[in-house]
Amino acid sequence: MEINLISDTVTKPSQEMLRFMFQAEVGDDVYKQDPTVIALEAKVAAFFGMEAALFFPSGTMANQTAIKLHTQPGEQLIADKWAHVYNYEGGGASFNSGVSCCLLDGNRGMITAQQVAGAINNPEFYHSPSTSLVCVENTTNKGGGACYDIAEFVKIKAVCEANHLKFHLDGARIWNALVVTKDNPKAYGKIFDTISVCLSKGLGAPIGSLLVSDAATIKRALRIRKIFGGGMRQAGYLAAAGIYALDNNIERLTEDHRRAKELGTVLQKLTWVEKVEPVETNILIFELKKGLNENLLIEKLKERNIHISSMGHGKLRIVTHLDYREVMHSYVIETLERIVVNCN
Ligand SMILES: *Cc1c(COP(=O)(O)O)cnc(C)c1O
Repeated sequence: MEINLISDTVTKPSQEMLRFMFQAEVGDDVYKQDPTVIALEAKVAAFFGMEAALFFPSGTMANQTAIKLHTQPGEQLIADKWAHVYNYEGGGASFNSGVSCCLLDGNRGMITAQQVAGAINNPEFYHSPSTSLVCVENTTNKGGGACYDIAEFVKIKAVCEANHLKFHLDGARIWNALVVTKDNPKAYGKIFDTISVCLSKGLGAPIGSLLVSDAATIKRALRIRKIFGGGMRQAGYLAAAGIYALDNNIERLTEDHRRAKELGTVLQKLTWVEKVEPVETNILIFELKKGLNENLLIEKLKERNIHISSMGHGKLRIVTHLDYREVMHSYVIETLERIVVNCN
């Protein structure tokens, strides 16, 4: 039994999900003739109370499309220094859209309205790039699964409106945030110009993301997706996995969150752990005591069939997910409590 806690992207579709996928009615989605893709897009748009949505092969492509939609070459976007759009999309913001990033020193990947207001370049000062977009992430990835208070989004939105900026939410793990905060997703739909969501993380679909917005923006997004090479043909088989995931795998995210919290509590008591960051959702980041080598712990756990990842600088990451079941959880807790990590 291999236990993979490296990411929530490692899940494999269940038998039920596969059965549902096989039964999908499909068509050519590049001609917008795939009824299952159309149904998924309508479902996700309705979830956020927005007009339209578009299915993408990856969250990266959905985010990059949003950046392309909201900016012109030479402009600048504002994001947290740990933002996925800046750190983990291969430099796509500059490659695809020719924009630079103004990075803010946020708290666990979260930025404030006050920080945003202070980072907007004066539009009259033509020496600086024009600021045109603000990107936030919820939950934060590198920030350890932290959730924003929706009140901060409302404040950032007001700053955006006052300065004619667009506001994009990278909601790869928005489902995790929503089950914790119990916010109404339709309130999110009112705040953001575009929202990207992933079906392939906590929800357990093998592939798929969507970009959600108003109808006119999604019409423009369709062209950009085509340019990026993201037009897919009989994609209904994949969209069906997303429909299944939305119907069956949102509420159960609380189990992933409980297990991550329990692991945090166990780690906190261990002599070789320096610090455990607050666990809000399914991501757990912890730090070893000074002088201890994180690769040593990774190797020791690997010998015991448990896989976790390093974030560098003595920090490690554990991500719980749909395929991490209770028997595995008990075994991981037992193993962590028994293992000895020392300087050699
Ligand atoms: C995973 C993730 C994405 C999208 O990743 P893909 O692997 O391209 O689907 C975007 N933003 C955040 C915060 C993520 O964690």
